[in-house]
Amino acid sequence: MTFEEIKTDEQKYMMHAYGRFNTAIVSGKGATAKDVNGKEYIDFTSGIGVNCLGYSDEGWVKAVSGQAAAIQHISNLYYSPLQVEVSKKLCELTGMDKVFLCNSGAEANECAIKIARKYSYDKYGEGRQKIITLVNSFHGRTVTTLAATGQDVFHNFFFPFTEGFEYVKANDIDDLKAHLSDEVCAIFIELIQGEGGVMPLSEEFVKAISDICREKDILFMIDEVQTGVSRTGEVYCYQHYGLQPDVITSAKGLGGGVPIGACVCSKSLADVLTAGTHGTTFGGNPIACAAANYVLSQVTTDSFLAEVRKKGDYIRAGLAKIGNVKEIRGIGMMIGIVTEKDNAKEIAAKCVENGLLILTAKNLLRLLPPLNITYDEIDKGLSILKTVMEA
Ligand SMILES: *Cc1c(COP(=O)(O)O)cnc(C)c1O
Repeated sequence: MTFEEIKTDEQKYMMHAYGRFNTAIVSGKGATAKDVNGKEYIDFTSGIGVNCLGYSDEGWVKAVSGQAAAIQHISNLYYSPLQVEVSKKLCELTGMDKVFLCNSGAEANECAIKIARKYSYDKYGEGRQKIITLVNSFHGRTVTTLAATGQDVFHNFFFPFTEGFEYVKANDIDDLKAHLSDEVCAIFIELIQGEGGVMPLSEEFVKAISDICREKDILFMIDEVQTGVSRTGEVYCYQHYGLQPDVITSAKGLGGGVPIGACVCSKSLADVLTAGTHGTTFGGNPIACAAANYVLSQVTTDSFLAEVRKKGDYIRAGLAKIGNVKEIRGIGMMIGIVTEKDNAKEIAAKCVENGLLILTAKNLLRLLPPLNITYDEIDKGLSILKTVMEA
């Protein structure tokens, strides 16, 4: 099929849920993708933070294909050593206690929301079900996670949304205090608002949330769907802040390119979900777990994390020398760029024409390169970005 045929049939057979760039990617190696015409692209996107080991990493392919050949799926009615291995790894990496495996970020967040409400219901009874999230947050596309998302543009068409969410301004402790009441059971935040424009929270604000949660037995829950799995140079971003949340959610990079999500909770929440209160058909699928086990074995070593921090700094230093760059935000290899000309969308489209895949978030350019991208690929990508930005 030619690109034009693909595009025509996409229009004909698929719901028009996505605005897409004009290319059809069909293969890749490392941080270099290839489209249907054989044109190559440097990849600064990882498929939105998913392919953390790049395209078709050798060890990852072996783990996934080996598992497909051994057994591709069993139901959650039976024990699975692969699920146990992922869960054990996540507990050891976070110092937390129990894991629920699912298929996506939105599902991991649904699990966190259910844990918060049931914990509170079990302990305090009805009337303590509100969850505070932040203005400008993003938590997913299900009806409930849209309700948790603190952006008005997401609160349209699909009424009625799930009740019980209140939105507090990021980094505004007074606004947080003003929204506290006896009805609040959890505070649920991203530490760097990803879709919201790569906005890191201040340490002071996060500490205030943690203190309030401890004092009032409110659950401190962190959406690490985009920031997790070593993206920021720590395995989970909260580890930069020196605080211990009650719940974290993880997805995107966790499977390195296959769908898997996880909700991880502390010991005090270990018994909240019981048989029959939550479940999923595909969650913890063996292929997904084999992929996650491989990813976690690679990206969580001290030397790998140090390299993520180093590459993040290297990219920042390169960006600082490019015209039209006004501000650089983010931590590690999660990077947002405010442009002088406020033309991120236009730049992103031109980058694709010039052989660079790059993301936007709000009116920013956003980089989420594969964590193992080479310095040579970084240089090539930055050079294309420079050409486009300074044109
Ligand atoms: C992408 C994202 C989600 C949603 O994840 P899906 O896998 O698309 O459901 C939730 N929260 C954050 C912070 C995200 O970046």
